[in-house]
Amino acid sequence: MPRDPNCIFCKIVAGEIPTQKVFETDCGLAFLDIGPLADGHLLWIPKEHYETLHEMAGERVGSLCAPLPQLGEAVKNVTAAAGYNVLQNNGRVAGQVVNHVHFHIIPRAEGDGLGYRWPAREYAQGRAEELTERLRSALGST
Ligand code: 5GP
Ligand code: ZN
Repeated sequence: MPRDPNCIFCKIVAGEIPTQKVFETDCGLAFLDIGPLADGHLLWIPKEHYETLHEMAGERVGSLCAPLPQLGEAVKNVTAAAGYNVLQNNGRVAGQVVNHVHFHIIPRAEGDGLGYRWPAREYAQGRAEELTERLRSALGST
């Protein structure tokens, strides 16, 4: 199983660092975030070490993500949240601090003040079409 001896989440998987584990499958582990944005803030991680989502094979991501609805529902019900965010950061610039793939499941309440900046803008003339073409090509879309 891929593992990084210096990775904090690999150490959690190996039981070398204590944590509040709430759920596991063959490939994934859920535990409470040590610095929660709200009570019940969970982390869902692959047991194997991958730094970013795109390093994982699609089938592996599929198996890993299968319990996400169950985890979201449990967090929502147990914390009586009005909703929740599933957040997955890739790369330092995107807010990733721990370099082991993880999904945050964050309970949300009205007026919790969490939010995020979402400064939506408009595409310049022709840019959306150009990007669509390039992305379709990168993805092998027909
Ligand atoms: P990131 O910013 O990389 O998306 O999020 C990393 C998350 O891991 C943070 O929310 C942080 O609180 C959490 N975290 C970091 N170290 C530990 C730890 O040792 N135990 C637990 N349970 N969570 C951790
Ligand atoms: Zn790791």
